[in-house]
Amino acid sequence: MMSLHVRTPTYHSSSLSRASGRTVWLKLESLQPSGSFKLRGIGLACQEHAKRGVKRFVSSSGGNAGIAVAYAGRELDIPVTVVVPETTSPRACRLISDMNADVLIHGASWQAANERALSMLGDNDAFIHPFDDPVVWRGHSTIIDEVVEDGVQPDLVVLSVGGGGLLSGVVEGLQRHKLNIPVLAVETTGASAFAQSVARGERIVLPAIESIATSLGARQVSEHAFALAADHRIDCAVVSDLQAVDACLRFLDDHRVVVEPACGASIATIYENVKELADYQNILVIVCGGATSTVEQLNTWRHSLSSASDP
Ligand SMILES: *Cc1c(COP(=O)(O)O)cnc(C)c1O
Repeated sequence: MMSLHVRTPTYHSSSLSRASGRTVWLKLESLQPSGSFKLRGIGLACQEHAKRGVKRFVSSSGGNAGIAVAYAGRELDIPVTVVVPETTSPRACRLISDMNADVLIHGASWQAANERALSMLGDNDAFIHPFDDPVVWRGHSTIIDEVVEDGVQPDLVVLSVGGGGLLSGVVEGLQRHKLNIPVLAVETTGASAFAQSVARGERIVLPAIESIATSLGARQVSEHAFALAADHRIDCAVVSDLQAVDACLRFLDDHRVVVEPACGASIATIYENVKELADYQNILVIVCGGATSTVEQLNTWRHSLSSASDP
């Protein structure tokens, strides 16, 4: 069966290489038809459920996971319902409903929306988890298959972490190809559930998400992602919201690609040449993408964040 995601380019970035004094490669997941890497894993999960004959996909993500489920459902001709909290932006709702999915707005938080989504599951429905599913990881792991096919061998892979699905998939891909390459897991300050868990040696739950990088906003990472830190070399880096937004805007000028702050966080480690890069010369950045920020929104965030940080 043909995949729902597309093969994305892997290429050398002169601007990021110059900014960091290292060789930097990009994997352009922002070019997926749903706007982010999520289509790899979620597309695969939806295809597998379709083979079993499910009649509907249900999701509770108002972000890129919901968009990926909506895209997959439309391609597979299976109805989709996405339950989103009241905080979801009108733009995100529209991106989902434009792909013919039903959007149901319910509750003040993602937890409330998620409970509603789970309560409405019928026998022939499949719930699509945004990050905690081995099939989703297997789908994400194809990123590394393509990088290997393209003949790129980095000495570090930089990626963003929310619930840890992307991390799980990339590590699975590296291990399948017997590549013992360290990973730098990047978060924003107000969404650093993974870095704090690794530092404490236990899987913590953030009391709240305090970051504009809402796609990184899992209050707790998956058990699998947390356990990987014992099995593979994973370092952590945390950047500010302002650094993430600045990176998005600079990346837009350098590469003519719009990404969310969730993705800008990874790119910021290169522009800022963070100390965690010190031992590496040949770096692959997973440009995970994200469809929910506009250029106008990025500029608004930059203005409000930089005036807030003025003395
Ligand atoms: C979902 C998402 C992430 C985080 O991925 P996880 O699998 O939850 O760790 C990062 N960036 C973007 C753009 C996303 O959509």
